[in-house]
Amino acid sequence: MASKKSGSFCSFCGKPKEEATMLISGIEANICDACVEQASKIVDVEMGGVSKKKGADSNFNIALPKPSDIKKHLDEYVIGQDQAKKVLSVSVYNHYKRLMNIGDKNEIEIEKSNVLMVGETGTGKTLLVRTLAKILKVPFCIADATVLTEAGYVGEDVESVISRLYQASDYDFDATQRGIVYIDEIDKIARKGDNPSISRDVSGEGVQQGLLKLLEGTIANIAPEGGRKHPDQKFVKIDTRNILFICGGAFNGIDRLIARRLNNSAVGFVTQGKDRITETDLIEQIAPSDLRSFGLIPEIIGRMPMITYLQPLDREALKDILSKPKNAILKQYIKLMELEGVTLDFDKKAIEVIISKAVEFKLGARGLRTICEKLMLDVMYDAPDRKDKNITITADMVVEKLADLDKSKAA
Ligand code: ADP
Repeated sequence: MASKKSGSFCSFCGKPKEEATMLISGIEANICDACVEQASKIVDVEMGGVSKKKGADSNFNIALPKPSDIKKHLDEYVIGQDQAKKVLSVSVYNHYKRLMNIGDKNEIEIEKSNVLMVGETGTGKTLLVRTLAKILKVPFCIADATVLTEAGYVGEDVESVISRLYQASDYDFDATQRGIVYIDEIDKIARKGDNPSISRDVSGEGVQQGLLKLLEGTIANIAPEGGRKHPDQKFVKIDTRNILFICGGAFNGIDRLIARRLNNSAVGFVTQGKDRITETDLIEQIAPSDLRSFGLIPEIIGRMPMITYLQPLDREALKDILSKPKNAILKQYIKLMELEGVTLDFDKKAIEVIISKAVEFKLGARGLRTICEKLMLDVMYDAPDRKDKNITITADMVVEKLADLDKSKAA
């Protein structure tokens, strides 16, 4: 050992005890306050890149709108789906309230409530979550469960979801740890059949197990610049405990499972005053056991205590979607034409024909955009050359323009 007497100098920088503000002794070494600070910075950079630069998480505070205000905001963009809006507003509100109270030792610890949304394709699941993230100004990303595989398989491993969130936060370590992740098509990783497979299941249960870890809270190792991981790279360690996970899926056929359960548990089940149970009524009765029958593992269902549903969109809802939301599709075309100095108008009957096509395609509101794009292409092409600056889209025009559009092209 060096000639300096052990215990009287910093083993890292060699500073004598008298020159340091503080010297902490270990079993065989000492460290001064300056080196502790230096080491902490190194750990910080290695672990989270920019964590301290962008504000300390312990003081996390945002102007959190009340659930009723969150819902009002969602109402501006999303038609119907009141139940889902309420559930999301409350769970997001509670989630961020909870985050703002972390560290308060006297408080009862509030558990995180991830959310599951069940609803046909094109009913507004993604739109709801996207709108939510915008209101709250927190990092948000969408991941598709179908491209996820277990670590080591070709495809994206489950941690790539967090990597995407980190990118969405502009590499802000703290913000990532309290972001929102929307996992779409979670129904597609359901176990097929009731027997767990003996070999590893690339697309099903293995992925559910991986996702479960994220939902429960784990330290995800991600590449600092996002993207793919290399074996000898240093990782950023993101704690997923306080990330809010919202999962969504169409769960095609779950109505039959609900019906079966209801017939078993309540003989002669009838909804209030109605003698026929519709698909819409059934989805309102969704329970965790139905998700289990569908093939989600119980642990993952347990991590999504808030289950909500989205109603299939009827003609009236589709009509509203076309024209009512703040950035409704028809309003967008009218605005575009206005920029060309053209006044655009849609005949009532024309709207009915558009809706009929969308209903025929069974793609929810998803088909509306494609239908309108096809319908409007020639109009937009000709607009700058037009002499007559007024255009009214009529039912005949819609029929003619959409004559060769079929479902496969509208998806
Ligand atoms: P999902 O995620 O349920 O498959 P999306 O939210 O992606 O459906 O919906 C596709 C598009 O359809 C949205 O971008 C939006 O334009 C429109 N849309 C769907 N549902 C609604 C709704 N309830 N209110 C307003 N627009 C909707």
